Amino acid sequence: MSHKMMILVIDGCAPEYLTPETAPALYALAAETGFVKIVQSQMPSVTNVNHACILSGRTPADTHVVGNYYYRPEIGEEGFIEERGFMKAKTILQAYRDVGKTTALFAVKGKVLGVYGDGATYGLSAQTPDAGLMKALGLTAPPPIDAAESTKWILEAALSCIQTYSPDFMYCTNNDYIFHHFAPDTKEAKQQIAYVDEYIRRIHELEPGRQIYVTADHGMNQKTTILNAQRLADDAGLHLYCLPPLKDRYIENHIYQEGGIVYVFLKDKEETKAFLALAEQTPEIERVMTARDAAATYQLPAEDIGDYVLFAAPDCAFGEIDGIRLHTTKSRTHGSLYECSIPLVAIHPEASPEQYVYSKDIAAIAMASL
Ligand SMILES: [Zn+2]
Repeated sequence: MSHKMMILVIDGCAPEYLTPETAPALYALAAETGFVKIVQSQMPSVTNVNHACILSGRTPADTHVVGNYYYRPEIGEEGFIEERGFMKAKTILQAYRDVGKTTALFAVKGKVLGVYGDGATYGLSAQTPDAGLMKALGLTAPPPIDAAESTKWILEAALSCIQTYSPDFMYCTNNDYIFHHFAPDTKEAKQQIAYVDEYIRRIHELEPGRQIYVTADHGMNQKTTILNAQRLADDAGLHLYCLPPLKDRYIENHIYQEGGIVYVFLKDKEETKAFLALAEQTPEIERVMTARDAAATYQLPAEDIGDYVLFAAPDCAFGEIDGIRLHTTKSRTHGSLYECSIPLVAIHPEASPEQYVYSKDIAAIAMASL
């Protein structure tokens, strides 16, 4: 493959955000040079899991990244996934580096660079920016990462990097704070897409031959009920540990760590029947699967996702609230089966539209032809 390439992952961009009305330049470019379609993220539909897959072209069964947080009961270890060593699949950054090509990884959130930065010739995060690179790219100090302008800042940085160094591969991603708080029809949400539309247009003008893929890590939906599955189980006298894969040190996006999926670690296998009965009679839990079944169905590593996986009903999320249930109008979140549909806008794509089914296929196709 001789073409230069860029993947832009708009964090939390459900298809409803990215339309011909909100992104006229992108749609015009796609009509002229490529396509727009809906593709699928990997489950769970959370950021870290999908960065791993989009960067490697593989499924979580290979990446072993199944959330923002890990729990290994057999050795009594748990913690946040923020640095290198967790990602077990080779990334497109590493693949490019290994054949002597240059790469860039530009992210608003610092941990994206922390976990996936190996192989990046140029690495930049808005949270902990490299002063030397900022200077070389002529960038001003970044705004706070939950500011609307953080998206503009990282896109400006990507444009400047392409202008200055023209890396063979560029991966750029923002923060989903705005989409966690604003629905697609709001001016705040439209402004985010306007930044994307403007900067992709400018990058295309600068390097008209570069392949550009604009996609998302997961979608985003309004939730009306939050269920504290841990508390529900505790109150029923069960001994288990509920791990929400979204569990994050950065809680501004989901203050209750709420999301549409939970991994359940049973501490007492004798309670299996009682646990399944409780899950069965709880309407917010749409489905419960054994780790083995969930692993087979969603290409997850069975050994990393507890004993059971709980899937939330469309309007529900699991979260660490006081009490068992909270009815709310203020939660927009993701993680469930209902946030797996995401847009893909392709400019000069490597392959035909039907070959892109999952977001990971972008890297899989590129790495196969490297
Ligand atoms: Zn995300």
